[in-house]
Order: sequence, then C-alpha cells, then structure tokens
Amino acid sequence: MSAPKRFPASLKTAAAPQREVLMPQRHLRQATADAAKLARPSGTGLDSGAVRERMVARLRAEGTFNETVLAAMAAVPRHEFVDSALAAQAYEDTALPIGHGQTISKPSVVAHMLGLLMAGSGARQRGTLGRVLEIGTGCGYQAAVIALLARQVTSIERVQGLHDKARQNLQRLALPRAPRLIWGDGRIGHAASGPFDSIIAAAGGEDIPPAWTEQLAPGGRLIAPTAASGRGQVLVVLDHLVDGGVSRWVRSEHEAVLFVPLKSGVL
Ligand code: SAH
Repeated sequence: MSAPKRFPASLKTAAAPQREVLMPQRHLRQATADAAKLARPSGTGLDSGAVRERMVARLRAEGTFNETVLAAMAAVPRHEFVDSALAAQAYEDTALPIGHGQTISKPSVVAHMLGLLMAGSGARQRGTLGRVLEIGTGCGYQAAVIALLARQVTSIERVQGLHDKARQNLQRLALPRAPRLIWGDGRIGHAASGPFDSIIAAAGGEDIPPAWTEQLAPGGRLIAPTAASGRGQVLVVLDHLVDGGVSRWVRSEHEAVLFVPLKSGVL
C-alpha cells in the first residue's frame, strides 16, 4: 500500500467566525457580554492538531482503519461542528446532538464507513473517492472529511436548519474543494451532480432507494445503513460492477448499526 496522504494540521481560515447578529436595541455592554458568552472556548487545546492525533491514535488502537481516512480525520476540527457546550467531548468516540433531534456520527463509525468506501475497486484504482454523494449532511462534519478524500462532494440534507448550519460550519474551514450542499430529500439522490463513484448515507432506511443505485457509476460503491431481515439495521455495501459491458450490482451486509431514520420530504 502506498503511504497515506498528509493533510494540514489545521484547516481553519483566518476569518473570525460570525456567530450571531446582536440585537441592535440592547445596551452595548450587555451585547458585548452576550457576545463573549457565545465565543468558542479558547485555551482548551482544541485548536491544536495534537488533540485530533490522540483521537486517531485511540481509533488505531481499537481497530484497523484506512490510514488515509485517519489522516483526513486528523485534519478536520470536529469541535467546530458541535455546540460550544459540547466542544470538550468532540474528540471522544461518541455521537453528539446537533439539534433538530439529529446527531453527528461517532468518529469510529465515520472512519469505518469511509474505509469501506475507499476499499471499493474504483476508489482503490484512483486512490480517491472520486465524485461523492452524501445523504444526510447534518452539521457537515463528515462532508468536510470526505472533501479531503474526494474530487467532488455533493451533500443533501432534508432539514433546512441543519443545511444552513452545515454551510456556516464549512465556510469556516479552508477546504481544498467546498462540498456542494443541497437542501432536499436525499432519497431521490442528485442526478444533476452524478453519476457518483461513491455514495454514503448517514441515515438508515428500510431499503436502498432506486435513485441511488441508478446514480452509482460503473465501478462505484455505495454504503448505507439499511434494515435487514431479522438483523435490525446493518451497513449494506452495494458495488456496481461491469463485466464484458454488462452491469451487475453486488450487495453485501456488514455489522449491525444504529443510525437516525432516513425520512422522506423536507423540513
Ligand atoms: N453526516 C452527518 C450526520 C448527520 S445524522 C454529520 O457528520 O453530522 C443524519 C442526517 O440525515 C440528519 O441530519 C437527518 O436530518 C438527515 N436525513 C434523514 N433523512 C434524510 C433524507 N431523506 N434526505 C436528506 N437528509 C436526510
């Protein structure tokens, strides 16, 4: 295997984050005090790459993960994607609430799923995930990690409040290529940006929507938490293989998982 890629330790842009528009009628001193409360915790060491390197070292100690994926995760400041009250927990291997009843996925689950995508035949040949479709942008964390591993990222979110939050979160990072964020029902995919070499769902459905299979390019791989008979929700991998010009789709089932539900329509 070739050496894993390295990414800059900090992707933060120099621009000061825009947190909230202060109420103009408030007394200036009150407004300044409010703004101070809204500021991200500083001096906690979360901005240093060392805290992410420790997270990656713990993942490595617990299992076998793709090193290029771990290098990308070591470069993305996960604490920038969660509420400041939860920032201190951002590098634990745990799911955290992101509002609207949704969660940011556990780092080990993100690493495992992206590792499975990188192991697809097309991704192995290219050394990148190529064109990617993510369903369930949430706070945008996984989209940022994918942006370091792909040529193009399209990410769809059905909850407008989260779609907007992800846009703000991602704007603060200096990513080599910004993910294209779509507010819509990801069950229909995004034909205009496809076909996709890699498709990843961050929400679990009863089945794999036909649009995803149709938008998966030859040689492409899809991974989605999906209901499996008698096993609850499992990670399903679908490969689009082409033999002698004839397409076939090969499905394999991996471990049991528990993701938030894939819902239809937008909010
Ligand atoms: N990748 C995200 C995890 C988000 S949790 C992160 O890094 O934070 C899953 C997300 O899928 C939720 O935000 C939920 O609103 C969204 N979702 C559920 N069904 C959807 C659908 N049909 N289309 C798009 N997004 C959907």
